[in-house]
Amino acid sequence: MTDAPHTCLQLNPEVREQLWRQVAQVIEQYARWVPSLPVAPELSPGKIRAMLASCDFEHGMDPTAAVDFVARGLTDFQVHTSHPRYFGLFNPAPTTMGIAADTLVAAFNPQMAAWSHSPFAAEVEAHLVRAFGALFGYPDADGTFCSGGAEANHTALLTALAQAFPVYLSEGVRDLAQQPVFYVSAECHHSFLKAARLTGIGSAALRMVPTDNKLKMQEPALRAMIRQDRKEGLAPFLVVATAGTTNAGAIDPLTGLGAIAAEEKLWYHVDAAWGGAAALVPELRPLLDGIHLADSITFDAHKWLSIPMGAGLYLTRHRDILENTFRTQNAYMPRDAAGLDIVDPYQHSMQWSRRFTGLKVFLSLLTAGWDGYAAAIRHQTAMGRLLREELLASAWRIENDTPLPVVCFSAPGGDAQSIVRQIVGSGQAWISTTVIAGRTVLRACVTHYGTQPEDVRALVSALNGVAVPV
Ligand SMILES: *Cc1c(COP(=O)(O)O)cnc(C)c1O
Repeated sequence: MTDAPHTCLQLNPEVREQLWRQVAQVIEQYARWVPSLPVAPELSPGKIRAMLASCDFEHGMDPTAAVDFVARGLTDFQVHTSHPRYFGLFNPAPTTMGIAADTLVAAFNPQMAAWSHSPFAAEVEAHLVRAFGALFGYPDADGTFCSGGAEANHTALLTALAQAFPVYLSEGVRDLAQQPVFYVSAECHHSFLKAARLTGIGSAALRMVPTDNKLKMQEPALRAMIRQDRKEGLAPFLVVATAGTTNAGAIDPLTGLGAIAAEEKLWYHVDAAWGGAAALVPELRPLLDGIHLADSITFDAHKWLSIPMGAGLYLTRHRDILENTFRTQNAYMPRDAAGLDIVDPYQHSMQWSRRFTGLKVFLSLLTAGWDGYAAAIRHQTAMGRLLREELLASAWRIENDTPLPVVCFSAPGGDAQSIVRQIVGSGQAWISTTVIAGRTVLRACVTHYGTQPEDVRALVSALNGVAVPV
């Protein structure tokens, strides 16, 4: 008997049951094995392409063999950000509830464009937007889930432009009498550069304000730049503060920058993609004092909340700005929720069809609770302190000054690139380099909630093995 045409897509119930068991086993084995894997793979496009050369799409593969094939590829050829000795960029070990959520989302496949198609999913996200808004001091927040911080920052730029220049939405930048400009610190995330291009104002519209010796934006320099730009006929419209820079964890003076933005009547955005999680821990919360002054905030749940990628949030205290920016009229979208007190997500976002991003945040938070998260973030912060202490004790030089668990350091006379190559090449740990004040230095960040003191000490001992600081 030949299978019905859809069977190759849906698979029959017996095959499915076996497949789910296999997938669950792959996930559980990965979680258990990852600490014993080399943190980083050999970078060999040739080997991966040779592996893929056997996949011709002409002959259907057995589903079990297909899953085994990709599990092997992912195990052998990726940097294991779930490894407790991955001290990298803010790529976390995903929460188990987040993994479960993403699987459920794929199965139920709720459509996040129209509220009436997925009212439960839409209300879960709205509930989370209010909860995270309240965390940052917005009594009645609006917002939207995004693919990540880059989309949230792009949304911030669009909403700030819509607020400052309403004609921008209909006529575009060509109709503006003056060139819009906005201010970021020299340490800001480079997604703002892309966003400047994407919004049509151009990357020259981004003004980089110098930072002080702690890598924080200098308030007098910001004031002077705004004054000078106005004098030259430009149109400032936005100040962006970073709460936890990607490079070195610097937190801009949020209250002071908020005051300048208010005086100058500029939109105030705080990019708290990573550092925003400090709001969950009472003793770290003061680091974010002043964040409630922001007109909008970027927060990435897929960073310090350890949610599987991608899960960004754009939050705002202006309840009408997202709708003003993204509302469209069209004939085909469902209207069956008209008259109810609801928001159609596609009218609030640059995305249209959208995945139920909020569920992985919801399920993780629902089970861990704020307290569970606070404990994890507190632990990672302590591991960052330990790393700093252990490096100092071995005479490495610390190059940044932040309470967040990212440590930039150097060995005077040591070549940072070569040290990283040796550490990463050994498979024992993963660290990277960055540039501070024009010098290439080493960078290690505690991104894993499971990183323990022995992992920190193993990193320092590996470092001491490749370079003896003088
Ligand atoms: C990671 C990061 C971003 C970009 O977010 P993605 O989720 O990678 O798109 C923006 N700003 C800061 C401060 C970040 O750390």
